[in-house]
Amino acid sequence: MTDWVQERLHRDYAQSLRVDRMLYDSETDHQRLKVFENATFGRVMTLDDVVQVTEADNFIYHEMLTHVPILAHGAARRVLIVGGGDGGMAREALRHASVERVTMVEIDAGVVEFSKEYLPAISAGAFDDPRLELVIADGAEFIRREGAAYDVIIVDSTDPVGPGEVLFTDTFYGQAKRRLAPDGILVTQNGVPFLQGEELANTMRAFRTLFADASCYLATVPSYAGGPMAFGWGTDGPARETPAEVLRGRFEASGIETAYYTPEVHAGAFALPGYVQKLLL
Ligand code: SAM
Repeated sequence: MTDWVQERLHRDYAQSLRVDRMLYDSETDHQRLKVFENATFGRVMTLDDVVQVTEADNFIYHEMLTHVPILAHGAARRVLIVGGGDGGMAREALRHASVERVTMVEIDAGVVEFSKEYLPAISAGAFDDPRLELVIADGAEFIRREGAAYDVIIVDSTDPVGPGEVLFTDTFYGQAKRRLAPDGILVTQNGVPFLQGEELANTMRAFRTLFADASCYLATVPSYAGGPMAFGWGTDGPARETPAEVLRGRFEASGIETAYYTPEVHAGAFALPGYVQKLLL
């Protein structure tokens, strides 16, 4: 009998992934954690049966949530990642030699320990990088503390159910803005607008009150089913006006090889279809 994991994140729509081999299935302090092998997606991690990351397609999500803000900013030295327990976001951020410090605030130590052992290809050594500061805490609690200012803040959280819910509040966004350095950029995992439009509309409403430049950009991640995924974008700086040739120069100077990100894809990702634009009004 072939097993399947069915993701029931959405009310009217579900996706299932075949389990070729279950590698781990247990409760952490915060959530039900599974890792299994799937012939198409490689190793898959789910939290409460919601796909978090897969070996095969995580490059799209992690490249777009790091290289877009870091290359648009142009001089990012300090990056904060809220969530990101699998280490993929840290992996991509640390590929920028110009980044001096990545602070990663993850609520669930179990996800980190576990990802190191069962998903080493996702973090690919990021946890051993001396520039990485790993903090086990609730991101909503961490962001309230006084402390360093960040050039880029990346919210790589679960969806707004369970421990991730606090990371989708006006309060959290307001406190995150307070922790941004001048011209700093806040980017967020904001779900699939075709199925989670309200989530994006709420984030954009909050960003419009906080930032001179509030928008989102898109990329399609196959395992985040339901169409293109949105990434919230908020800044008071000019980063979104960075000309394509400047992005191209910065990208080439970084020496980073990517499988999804290009400066042209970066610029194009902010061209929003009508149904998404409507969610920003
Ligand atoms: N790529 C995934 C997505 O788009 O749904 C997110 C990946 S990552 C595994 C999500 C991480 O957010 C998990 O490790 C989870 O433990 C963490 N997380 C959830 N709520 C959090 C909170 N309040 N503070 C810090 N980390 C949190």
